[in-house]
Amino acid sequence: MATDSTLRFSAQTDEVTSLLRIVNLVRTGEATTRPEIGEATGLGRGVVTQRIERAAALGYLADSDFGPSSGGRAPRTLRFQAERGRLVVCAIGALHIHVGLTGLDGDVTAQAHRDWDISRGPDETLEVALSMVDELLAAEEGAPIWGVGVGLPGPVDFASGRPVAPPIMPGWNNVDVRGRVQEHLGAPTWVDNDVNLLTYGERARRKALDEDLIYCKVGSGIGAGLLSGGRVHRGANGAAGDIGHVPVLGAETRCRCGKVGCLEAVASGWALVRDANAAIAAGEESSLSDVDPITPEQISLATERGDGLARALSERSARVMGDAIATLVNVFNPAVIVIGGAVAAAAGEAYLAEVRQRVYDRSLPLATRDLAIEQSIEDIREPIRGGAELVREQLFDASFARWFADGRPTIEAIFPAV
Ligand SMILES: [Zn+2]
Repeated sequence: MATDSTLRFSAQTDEVTSLLRIVNLVRTGEATTRPEIGEATGLGRGVVTQRIERAAALGYLADSDFGPSSGGRAPRTLRFQAERGRLVVCAIGALHIHVGLTGLDGDVTAQAHRDWDISRGPDETLEVALSMVDELLAAEEGAPIWGVGVGLPGPVDFASGRPVAPPIMPGWNNVDVRGRVQEHLGAPTWVDNDVNLLTYGERARRKALDEDLIYCKVGSGIGAGLLSGGRVHRGANGAAGDIGHVPVLGAETRCRCGKVGCLEAVASGWALVRDANAAIAAGEESSLSDVDPITPEQISLATERGDGLARALSERSARVMGDAIATLVNVFNPAVIVIGGAVAAAAGEAYLAEVRQRVYDRSLPLATRDLAIEQSIEDIREPIRGGAELVREQLFDASFARWFADGRPTIEAIFPAV
């Protein structure tokens, strides 16, 4: 009878839901003993025991040490078996490739880095990135790969894992990055914008599970990642936060994307390098005239030395970024803004102070009442941690119900062929 099967189905769904919830409570450390799990879920002792037994049989949970006693017998704690799988992250930037391995807990166990120009196209770039991953895997005995996170320096359609008309990545438009990586590594793969990876890294570092945060990257490109209630907000197509090509009032410089007056064409690392070179060619005095080639890092170092040209360029970037961030603050009302990327990082506190000034001048008092504007920690492992956080979210939050019964995730279960 239809009613019977409906009932059975919903009962089974409840069972699965509570099982996954329990695994995730233990995995995140929110509840690790049977009494704590009972309290967190509202389930009876018998049901909790049953679910834990099933989760243990599937290999997700195991008994661990005894917890602190609250009078009677000390309860045994449970632990998530993070060593059963590994995650791979490929963070591909405009001018470098950074790859790493982590456990299911997101701890980085190996990583490698090299300079690389992404404009050499998808075939060569993915081949190099994947061979770097192969090298790490060959050097480290370990568990099977459960998931892969890939970051790219341009807009990505998150659902399909394909870049969409990325301005600085000729040949990458609509390339099936997910498909190629999955074919090579044999594990479910998620592709995201590189700033979103940094935003995930910040979420993992702060354990910001319900925070409203904006991560602004001012490097060779400019972009923002939006964390809304602890979730990365991608928008309808994955383009949310891509602020590099919004127009700056009065700016007339041509951008790499072909448009005129983009934020990136005024405030990014390559814009500063372009203007430093032009000023020196025009005869302006600067310590940068001895530097070849001039890079955003060199401009920042010169700013620290007190070089007038470098300081003026850096201040202009901070001022224009401050205005753009003020708009974001009024639209999004974040609690925290984290500013990262080579331009902002090297210029340090002076950059931050200029941004703060502009944001406070141009935002509503309510939006800035509790607003914190901070520098990112600029740890080279952040994109790896962030990529692992993305994969962990997709595995254990978004798709767990589809594969948990198999004991480990598969491409077929997570991305079934249509
Ligand atoms: Zn542009």
